[in-house]
Amino acid sequence: MIYKNFLNFILCTVLLSCNVEKNDEINIYSQRHYQVDKKQYENFEKKTGIKINVIKAGADELLERLYNEGENSPADLFVTVDAGKLQKGVEKGLFQKIKNKIIESNIIADLKDVNSYWVPVTYRARLIVYSNERVLSHELSTYEDLANPKWKGKILVRSSSNAYNQALMASMYANIGEEATKKWSKGIVNNLARDPKGNDRDQVKAIASGQGDLAIVNSYYIGMLLSSEKESEVLAGKSISVFFPNQAKEDRGTHVNISGFALTKNAPNRENAIKLLEYLTDVEAQNTYVNNSFEYPVNPKVKPSKIVSSWGEFKFDKLDLNLLGSLRADAIKIFDYTGWK
Ligand code: FE
Repeated sequence: MIYKNFLNFILCTVLLSCNVEKNDEINIYSQRHYQVDKKQYENFEKKTGIKINVIKAGADELLERLYNEGENSPADLFVTVDAGKLQKGVEKGLFQKIKNKIIESNIIADLKDVNSYWVPVTYRARLIVYSNERVLSHELSTYEDLANPKWKGKILVRSSSNAYNQALMASMYANIGEEATKKWSKGIVNNLARDPKGNDRDQVKAIASGQGDLAIVNSYYIGMLLSSEKESEVLAGKSISVFFPNQAKEDRGTHVNISGFALTKNAPNRENAIKLLEYLTDVEAQNTYVNNSFEYPVNPKVKPSKIVSSWGEFKFDKLDLNLLGSLRADAIKIFDYTGWK
C-alpha cells in the first residue's frame, strides 16, 4: 500500500499533474501566518474527509509561482492578508470568479469584492493605539492628524516595505489625493519617535517602554498581546488603549483590510475549494477565527471576541479594496519620496 502510494507520488511529480484523477483534497497557497488556520483546516478535514494541503510563502512569491505554473498549477486556492495582493493576482489573470449563494449570503455586503474574484474570511482595522499614561483619547481624531507637529517625536510605526502600511498609504491616496497624501507622509516621518523597525507588536512594546506615545497597528495584534502567555506582552497590551480614527459623522471611517481567498483559474479541486469557502464564512469557522486570531468576522451573525468587542463598534472605510492593489505602486512612490524608511 505504501509502495503504491509512493509510486503514485512519483507519477504525479513526474507528470506535474494529477488533475485527471479527482482526489478528495484541496491545495492552498497561503501567505497567512496565524495558528488559527491549521485549526480551521483540521476541523474541515474532520467534517468532510477532504484533505487540505498548504504551501506557505510570501504573497508575491506565491503569485509568481501561480503565474509560472500556469495550467499545471496544483493550487486551488490562494489566501492572503491583503486585498491589494488579490487584486494583483486578478490583474495577472490567475483567478476565476466565485458565484455562490451560500458564500454571498454569509458576508457583509460592504466587504465583498465588486468583481466576485475573491472571498473575504476576516477583516482587520489598522488603528491607532496610544499610551494610557501620556495621551488622552480626545487628543486623537484622524489619520491625517497624526501629521500634526504636536505629535513630533511621538509616533511609532513599522517600515514602508510592509504590506499593511502600503495598503494604508494607498487608502490615503484614494481618499485625499496625491498631494495631500505626500504632505501627510512627510508629516508622519517628521513626527517619528525612531526609524521604522520591528513588527506591529514591537510598536506596542515600544510604547510600553516609553520610546513613543502613539502607534499605527493592526487590531488583532492587541488581542494577541492581551491573551499572550508572556507576561511582558500582556503588560505591553495593557499599557495602551485603542482608538478608531476618522469616525466623525461626515468622515470616511477607519481603514480596514481583509484576509481573503481567490479560486485559481484552473483549480483541479474546484468543488472542494468552494465547499471550504462556504465553511470558512459560516458561523462555526467564523467563531474560530475571532476567538483565536482576534480578527473581525465577515459574517454578520458572528460577534468579535470579548477583547475586541470591548473596544466598541466602529465605522470602517467603504473604499473598494481593489484600489489597495491598483494604487500600491503610487503608495510606494510616496514612501520613497517622503523618506519613510
Ligand atoms: Fe499580521
